[in-house]
Amino acid sequence: MSDAAENVVLRVDDLQKSFGGLTATDHATFDVERGTITGLIGPNGAGKSTIFNLISGFYEPDGGTVEVNGTDVTGMEPYEVAERGLVRTFQTPRKLEGMTVREAMLVGPRNQPGESFVRLFTSPGAVAESESENLADAERILAEFEIDHLAEQPATDISGGQMKLVELARAMLAEPEVLLLDEPVAGVNPTLAKKLKSQIRRLNDRGTTFLLIEHDMEFVMDLADPIVVLDQGTVLTEGTPHSVRNDQRVIDAYLGG
Ligand code: ADP
Ligand code: MG
Repeated sequence: MSDAAENVVLRVDDLQKSFGGLTATDHATFDVERGTITGLIGPNGAGKSTIFNLISGFYEPDGGTVEVNGTDVTGMEPYEVAERGLVRTFQTPRKLEGMTVREAMLVGPRNQPGESFVRLFTSPGAVAESESENLADAERILAEFEIDHLAEQPATDISGGQMKLVELARAMLAEPEVLLLDEPVAGVNPTLAKKLKSQIRRLNDRGTTFLLIEHDMEFVMDLADPIVVLDQGTVLTEGTPHSVRNDQRVIDAYLGG
């Protein structure tokens, strides 16, 4: 493998996905380099969330491939992709009825647990031990995110912004190498958004690679480099925040031109 290939932690190659007559993903190709916070932007309906679903195994592509750390994960189940180090969050966090924040942490990312849920089926004997390990990890991560005071709260009683923080904290419990965040600050107040930003930076400094969908341009331009611009399911351009912001095709796409 060349140095360049070793640096690529996620490779999206010629991905294709249609829903009936609608092409949501159209020959999308891009790489995410290890250690980056890579932004994925584009107008509403550009196909950003669909790409996340394709990458993380929630949708099966009609064509093309997804590689994580050089392994072809195309067509794998979400938990199998998670086991290879890639975890995602959802644009709309799932409902957490009947659970405290602490319990919600232990469930793992929806349908994509790098943790207890998988082991329950694959190695039941390891569960008791891993449960207590998970609990300790959950407590530590809640403290790191400065939301340990919420641990006993019903997960439905916390604010939307706090829920986003819990979503990020829960994803971190799976210790992903690559974390895909779908609009982490949508509906989050400025104070919590700042907190989320510093948490993402901190985790990135410690080695987690991020692919970040975000509508808030200031947030994504400040945090991500490079930025991949998606329009009508295809990659329009990619580059530094500065180059992307000044690209006439990007301006046109956002203005519907
Ligand atoms: P974005 O996240 O960039 O706003 P999406 O990926 O959610 O865009 O959607 C891209 C297009 O694909 C939209 O036209 C959307 O309606 C369509 N789409 C996404 N998921 C589905 C689905 N499960 N069934 C049918 N159409 C879908
Ligand atoms: Mg979306």
